[in-house]
Amino acid sequence: MEEHASLRPAATDGGTTGREAETTILVLLADPEVRRLGEEIRLEELRLGLHLRARYGALQDRRERAVREGDHAVHQRVCPGKHGQWGRICILDAGHESADPHWGVNAEGQPVAWVGSAPDDD
Ligand SMILES: [Zn+2]
Repeated sequence: MEEHASLRPAATDGGTTGREAETTILVLLADPEVRRLGEEIRLEELRLGLHLRARYGALQDRRERAVREGDHAVHQRVCPGKHGQWGRICILDAGHESADPHWGVNAEGQPVAWVGSAPDDD
């Protein structure tokens, strides 16, 4: 049986495609408009995080108590969403994503809310 060409793995190019993609990403990230939008998103995540603190602050207390006391039942039902690279760990219960953004505190201890996932969500 003949294998269809589209099902074969792509030919290796010595990493050229990967380097070109990395260069393109670096150029995009250096663009002033992309940087401005990134800052705008960061500020909106902080604004929303602060707004939702009244609703979710008790869950932050629950998570901190569970960490201190080694309460595995709490850890098992917490959302797997995290942006560890930015020091964020969602403290809401798993399954909330269809109704609420992820919510937690950032590395500076500020409440932060965000949507979506990141490559380090594992
Ligand atoms: Zn979450």
